[in-house]
Amino acid sequence: MIYIPFEIFSLSLIVLGLLFLLVLWFYYDRKEKLAFKKEQFEKAFYCIKCNHLYSVNQDVEVSDCPKCGYESGRLQF
Ligand SMILES: [Zn+2]
Repeated sequence: MIYIPFEIFSLSLIVLGLLFLLVLWFYYDRKEKLAFKKEQFEKAFYCIKCNHLYSVNQDVEVSDCPKCGYESGRLQF
């Protein structure tokens, strides 16, 4: 059997644990950024003709209302 000193063994366990946390951190950071990008892309529109509030998943400034077809401008905050 190969003899591994306790210090080396515990140190490698700590390094492995830190690596695991780092991988998890990168994974969730990426996931969150992707979700934020998707959310950012969604634009809100308000139709002044029929008071309908809706959102569109395209990067456009004007969109036709899905209810009445009236061209409405993007809501800006
Ligand atoms: Zn409308």
